[in-house]
Amino acid sequence: MTEDRSFDTDVIIIGGGPAGSTLGCYLAMNGYQAVILERDIHPREHVGESLVPSANKMLEEIGFFDKMDYHGFIRKPGASWTSYKGTTAGPELLIRFKDSPQPGINQDYTYHVDRSRFDSLLLKHASEQGVKVVQGANVLRVNFDENERAAGVTVRVVDTEFDLRSRYVIDASGRRGLLGKQLGLTWSEGGRGRSPSTRGSPRWAWWWRRPSSTRPGRTTRHSSTS
Ligand SMILES: Cc1cc2nc3c(=O)[nH]c(=O)nc-3n(C[C@H](O)[C@H](O)[C@H](O)COP(=O)(O)OP(=O)(O)OC[C@H]3O[C@@H](n4cnc5c(N)ncnc54)[C@H](O)[C@@H]3O)c2cc1C
Repeated sequence: MTEDRSFDTDVIIIGGGPAGSTLGCYLAMNGYQAVILERDIHPREHVGESLVPSANKMLEEIGFFDKMDYHGFIRKPGASWTSYKGTTAGPELLIRFKDSPQPGINQDYTYHVDRSRFDSLLLKHASEQGVKVVQGANVLRVNFDENERAAGVTVRVVDTEFDLRSRYVIDASGRRGLLGKQLGLTWSEGGRGRSPSTRGSPRWAWWWRRPSSTRPGRTTRHSSTS
């Protein structure tokens, strides 16, 4: 779409996680030039491996859903929540997706994914749809024009900093929240140390702790049924 030479691309997407890759696919499928600038080099570790069925629709639309079985991701027909170590001190919450069909979702399952592989494959898929993907590209800031409209970014690749101009800038930097921080729009709920933290566990694969001001120290293990 870009014909105006003052732009390097139609859309700059900051971050090559699932949001950035998926949006890049939609843009490329609709004829827009998009560039994904990803700070890390994939595959990189990430939490968030338990997908929900509502994501199926987007993965289908961008032509990735059919690749999930091929790449060996585990089908997940539901989810259960128990207390830490799998004990059921309280009632276990069990959800089977087939019992709660959702409009527009064609399957009664979704997937449990290794996020490093999933994100990496999704980013590759975006590249295959025509999105330019640059990894190891750390966006330092979003640049605004005289009308206070986002008009590009300053990015650092290795030791070199340069500007890229675009019609639109999308911040898909996840919890980093690049634009929110730049504009001073972020705040910390409960202050330092209140963000979720991951813990490895050889027996139970992993668990994570969600700090809560009302229930301090409460832990949650999220597991899937299969
Ligand atoms: C403890 C925990 C458990 C979770 N469990 C689940 C779960 O079970 N299921 C689920 O669906 N979700 C889960 N989530 C949420 C899930 O991780 C996020 O919703 C998901 O990763 C968001 O994807 P995203 O693409 O928006 O961001 P991300 O996946 O975080 O991707 C953002 C990308 O932007 C890049 N980036 C950041 N800053 C810059 C920069 N300045 N320049 C260039 N690139 C940059 C990062 O390297 C990263 O690759 C969990 C989250 C946490 C914290």
